Amino acid sequence: MNIRNYIGGEFLDPLSAKWLDNYNPATGEVYSQIPDSDELDVELAVVAAQKAFPAWSALSEEKRSEYLMKIANTIDARLDTLAMAESIDNGKPVSLAKAMDIPRAKDNFSFFATAILHESSEFHQTGNEAINYTYKSPIGIVGCISPWNLPLYLFTWKIAPALAAGNCVIAKPSEITPMTAYMLSEICAEIGLPPGVLNIVHGLGPKVGSAIVGHPIISAISFTGGTKTGAEIARVAAPMFKKLSLELGGKNPNIIFADCDFDKMLKTTVSSSFTNQGEICLCGSRILVGRPIYEKFKTAFIEKVKTLKVGDPLEEGVRIGALVSKTHKEKVLLYIQLAKEEGGTILTGGKEIHPVGRCANGYFIEPTVIEGLSHTCRTNQEEIFGPVVTIQPFDTDAEALEMANSTPYGLSATVWTENLTRAHQFAHQLQSGIIWINCWLLRDLRTPFGGMKQSGVGREGGFEALDFFREKKNVCIKI
Ligand code: NDP
Repeated sequence: MNIRNYIGGEFLDPLSAKWLDNYNPATGEVYSQIPDSDELDVELAVVAAQKAFPAWSALSEEKRSEYLMKIANTIDARLDTLAMAESIDNGKPVSLAKAMDIPRAKDNFSFFATAILHESSEFHQTGNEAINYTYKSPIGIVGCISPWNLPLYLFTWKIAPALAAGNCVIAKPSEITPMTAYMLSEICAEIGLPPGVLNIVHGLGPKVGSAIVGHPIISAISFTGGTKTGAEIARVAAPMFKKLSLELGGKNPNIIFADCDFDKMLKTTVSSSFTNQGEICLCGSRILVGRPIYEKFKTAFIEKVKTLKVGDPLEEGVRIGALVSKTHKEKVLLYIQLAKEEGGTILTGGKEIHPVGRCANGYFIEPTVIEGLSHTCRTNQEEIFGPVVTIQPFDTDAEALEMANSTPYGLSATVWTENLTRAHQFAHQLQSGIIWINCWLLRDLRTPFGGMKQSGVGREGGFEALDFFREKKNVCIKI
């Protein structure tokens, strides 16, 4: 099966006539072909978007909202098909795609479709002398580039606010997981989204991604991916004065105090460590535990982790599917080796798995828990992005805080305590854009989402996302 580019409302082969293999990570087999597009396909998309922009941006909010709601409803109606496609493309359990990825993609569209119906603009009165109002307009043609870990979820998290705000979009999914982006383009064609409003160009980051970032007509880039790629995008886009939103990597601490509700904490900590094979930027990969409950936690945690079923993502009851690619699997195994070299002890897991049957050649790794490492070693400082966590004891609040804040990243943090004062103190002092107290991955789409330090620049979510995709003008009128 061939995935095709969606440009100007049409399904097109890449101009280069070159294709890339798309792998099913659970079986290691090639199951489709992806366009190996380049700057010429991006140019076609820009021309189509420029043509579509005047009419799309002039539509009323109600009309734009109607289009986006139609997309949301169609995603909802195709939950099973999209969840299956996401699981096959990414390796995640189909149950997870059905419960999380696809419903969230639907929500992304319905959230921004309705948000634009309930907005107002700012007004400032300058004494008796003047009035000011803020006039908001779409930017024009914008670029959205997303990663492979939550394919449709993150792709639509960018596209939906960009379209809702009145822009035309050139979007690139990760070439590792392009399938649901392709299915989204089919949905857009079916519901009659005007040609050129959304253009999806498939292919490699250094070819298609960099052509989007470097294109002079594309004046804002919303990017989610690794910190190194984010730095490269900023290097190219900054001198061109493009608006940039960068959602990057993380090395998130999960801080567990002795006074926490142990059972709730334990259940959620297993999820925050290993959901989606640990391939969520918000997973807590450094578990810091108060000394008085360290041994109790260690025993109970390992016991639970050992019960997690790893294997065929399509099988019921499987909690951990395949890692997204062979390259990524090898990277994660190298980090496990590094942890051993740095003096870590593998408490459970640590090895590759070859399930019996159709998934024997897939990319599976046991959920892995490591102890005995310093918080400053590479294993505890660098993003692994797989089913690997470390556990470390701490004695004082100050020590926990120092360890938590010690990495170059600052995306999210989780704190487990029943002490309200301590919870507030940590929320205040942790260097992370998102803090969860006694919960994890509880998301309200209105809240600002993004990272500090090397985890990114800018915030997505709610009106912040709509504002990113707009220019604001102040209009001052003398009374
Ligand atoms: P990458 O940075 O490798 O890729 C992200 C996207 O950028 C892909 O579509 C990729 O294409 C593209 N790309 C690669 N090089 C360039 C370039 N030079 N110019 C423009 N685009 C380019 O990230 P991964 O796909 O490996 O995703 C994992 C990373 O994403 C992790 O670090 C994770 O923490 C982070 N992430 C952050 C989130 C957040 O909200 N902060 C959420 C989810 C993930 P291609 O696939 O072809 O290389």
